[in-house]
Amino acid sequence: MMQDTIAAIATPSGEGGIAVIRVSGDEAVAVSDRLFSGKAKLADVPTHTVNYGFIRTPHTGERVEEVLVTVMRGPRSFTKEDVVEISCHGGFVSVRKVLDLVLESGARLAEPGEFTKRAFLNGRIDLSQAEAVIDLIRAKSDRAFRIAMKQSEGSLSKRIGELRHRLVELMAHIEVNIDYPEHDVEELTNAFIKEKCSLALEDIERLLVTAEQGKILREGLVTAIIGRPNVGKSSLLNTLAQEDRAIVTDIAGTTRDVVEEYVHVNGIPLKLLDTAGIRETSDVVERIGVEKSRQALSDADLILLVFNGAEQLLPEEREMIAELAGRQVIAIVNKVDLPQQLEEADLSEAFGSDRVVRMSLLEQQGIVDLEKAIARIFFSGQVESSDLTYVSNARHIHLLKSARSALQEAFDAAESYVPIDMIQIDIRTGWEHLGEIIGDSVSESLIDQIFSQFCLGK
Ligand code: GDP
Ligand code: ZN
Repeated sequence: MMQDTIAAIATPSGEGGIAVIRVSGDEAVAVSDRLFSGKAKLADVPTHTVNYGFIRTPHTGERVEEVLVTVMRGPRSFTKEDVVEISCHGGFVSVRKVLDLVLESGARLAEPGEFTKRAFLNGRIDLSQAEAVIDLIRAKSDRAFRIAMKQSEGSLSKRIGELRHRLVELMAHIEVNIDYPEHDVEELTNAFIKEKCSLALEDIERLLVTAEQGKILREGLVTAIIGRPNVGKSSLLNTLAQEDRAIVTDIAGTTRDVVEEYVHVNGIPLKLLDTAGIRETSDVVERIGVEKSRQALSDADLILLVFNGAEQLLPEEREMIAELAGRQVIAIVNKVDLPQQLEEADLSEAFGSDRVVRMSLLEQQGIVDLEKAIARIFFSGQVESSDLTYVSNARHIHLLKSARSALQEAFDAAESYVPIDMIQIDIRTGWEHLGEIIGDSVSESLIDQIFSQFCLGK
């Protein structure tokens, strides 16, 4: 199958030490040879070698860039096609110039994600791995990055693959029982189906448990900072933002100037709500801020409730404490550098003593304690598993849930002695939903698979 040759700058735009242009397709080497001059023609160099030379304008022979060119012939490449990577060490302008020359010499500008799409279409990676590549690019924290990395290496695919394999075995048993009822095969009991289904359901459940954490890792733990005026909310925000240079995103299309800000606490991304409101100090905006804070409150996964330790609790603060019972709250007693008036026992009683953190934002004290408290909530007592298979993609979560309900139906059907060919349909549906996660739901292949592994003709 002929593949046209695509090219794009593979490194982020802007100034950098080096930039890489990636070329992939049948003509990748030929296109590059039209521009490259080095010791040998790229067509003649062994695969997986790095070659020093220059990029020249074909007509004038003018040197544009000094380069290192890596040649990787398919199928041993990311796309399984011939791939050439041209590393330039100039600024953005010269990289752009090299790309233009590559395009003039017969390559087409790649669409976004097209290299990864080719890797998928050519069977180099499956769908969940392709999606992980996207996650890698967007990862907002070290931890999210490691998880996406793991997924791109196929950890989710492997788990899904094992699960589906066991379902295929189960279906094979059922199929045999349907088609060859008189055949000498192991008697299928409803108990057997129920056992296999509940094992599969447990597996799916375990994956779904990770989904909540996975979502947080991708999107940030939605966090609201609240408290009455002057307790230190802005100071807290600034402190958190300093810890790790905040990424400020303007979300287009949202009303007003809602700003989302991400900060990282021990690798856990917090998506801080309503930061614009908190940063402003004028009275009018403080009042608007109250409205917004209400909204932020109901959306938040985590609430940082700030108090002034130098003052006693006000009635409205007591109300707030009562209102927040049952939510994920960390009570921050700020201004501990001043003589203390606040009754901490009231806070410990409401939220638990490990949820009360004493701080002086003025003197930058208690930050580590706050980080620990946040980490405790995030991992909710669980030891962080070294197995970083997190399901974090909405499509995967949806498919896992669909598979779960199909298998639950199969289980229930077995329990009420529904005919097994009916049960088979539910199991098959579950198997197909799981297959969609890794982009494999070719249902004709089911029959082949079943009989390829189950030898009847002995
Ligand atoms: P907000 O209105 O809740 O956002 O509070 P701010 O962060 O604007 O702080 C209000 C005032 O309290 C400012 O003058 C801060 O300098 C001061 N402040 C903040 N944190 C501390 C602290 O830990 N100790 C003391 N003594 N003052 C603080
Ligand atoms: Zn403020």
